[in-house]
Amino acid sequence: MAENDADRAKYDFKKAMQEITSYRGRGTELISVYIPENKQISEVMAYLRNEQSQASNIKSKTTMNHVQSAIDSIAARLKTYKAPPANGLVIFCGEVPRAGDQTKMVQYVINPPEAITAFMYRCDSTFFTDPLDAMLLDKRSYGLITIDRSEATLGILSGSRIQVLKHFDSLVPSKHHQGGQSSVRFERLIEIAAHEFFKKVADNATEVFLNRPELIGILVGGPGATKDFFVKEEYLHHELRKKVISPLVDTGYTDESGLRELVDNAKGIIVDVRLTEEKEYMQRFFREIRKADGGLSCYGEAMVRNALDMGAVDMLLLSEALDKRRVTIQCPSGHTHDLTVADADARIQCPECNANAQVVKDEDLIDDFFMKADEYNTKVEIISPDSEEGDMLMRAFGGIAAILRYKVSRCPSWMISQFRSAGPWRPRSARPGSTSPSCPWMSAVSRVRTPPWRCSPWPRWRSRTPWSTLRP
Ligand SMILES: [Zn+2]
Repeated sequence: MAENDADRAKYDFKKAMQEITSYRGRGTELISVYIPENKQISEVMAYLRNEQSQASNIKSKTTMNHVQSAIDSIAARLKTYKAPPANGLVIFCGEVPRAGDQTKMVQYVINPPEAITAFMYRCDSTFFTDPLDAMLLDKRSYGLITIDRSEATLGILSGSRIQVLKHFDSLVPSKHHQGGQSSVRFERLIEIAAHEFFKKVADNATEVFLNRPELIGILVGGPGATKDFFVKEEYLHHELRKKVISPLVDTGYTDESGLRELVDNAKGIIVDVRLTEEKEYMQRFFREIRKADGGLSCYGEAMVRNALDMGAVDMLLLSEALDKRRVTIQCPSGHTHDLTVADADARIQCPECNANAQVVKDEDLIDDFFMKADEYNTKVEIISPDSEEGDMLMRAFGGIAAILRYKVSRCPSWMISQFRSAGPWRPRSARPGSTSPSCPWMSAVSRVRTPPWRCSPWPRWRSRTPWSTLRP
């Protein structure tokens, strides 16, 4: 689903940035490389070789080794590129502390959402992320209008980039003009000139904004009451008027710098626009859950996964604060399980034999859901925890909820209590290929009746969270 792709890219970028900025090196040994699209890979390689030999002068042996191995790792990665991709490439690489005395090498390769303009190499105790920070803003576009009686500017905000489209100086005389004409007549002339000017601005706005469906709103700013008058008197095309975001924004200027001021002052409003959208999704979910039979709501990882597997989920609501990993583990006895864990680096025991297991696949939980959702054309919405509704999603529903396409039957509570007391694994009788039960609790009941149970590689069952952590 193309829509999900953009959202996923945005989420992945944001998530990677959170991780990258959280690392602190033991020494000056974390390397950040920014490569613009037009830079030759061979030049970057030459630069790295030079840095590599410089690094041999580093006094601390450990730091030297860390820096050199990070450079090696970056060079190895770069070898896989013929040329930088569109927008360029950013690589972060270095040894970061783990539990105890250990360190681990991390490497992030970022395809930035906006173009990298200059080549940069930094080696420091933190990764250098400043050029990427601005790109974290909402990537959708807004129309921009700044207006007063003397001038007006039209522009577009996409991501953090402001593009000036048109600028007009008005011929409206200043009100303080002391001409020979009577003041009443002069006032009238001013108003006519102003009217003509506003019409011209509005006509141009129609021309540049109307055929851009990607604009999710129009921000209007200016120093005085003119902007309010301009909007209230309906100069704008009615389709554009619907997109004007209130409140209008006060700015000191109406030229190009005014557009920048408008965007700066409207940052809170832009965040609110997204939050409002998220709130609406959550309200839809709450409306369902308030129905006596739970309506089309579904929540909790196990239930939502089950509904997803059935293709029953219309919209998946995931909290941005869901900081978990989806791992595949393997124990020495050869059992494999898919589990959701808080930390993939922590010791994980095989749920079957309790032996220490090795992580063979490790993925962000939300990315895992994105992949699953794509199979069934399910829309994924990442909900920030910044609104009351978003906070509730995280705290009351474990950060995972869904609005269903059709009802998935639920089980009576007696089944659930049986299932809870039954221990962690599924029955032998549920073989790959057997019909999938429409309700996860049903299978729990059959499990209770047909011990002994052991796990098998049937994907749907492997992807279960251990029973003991489930909440119906
Ligand atoms: Zn095992």
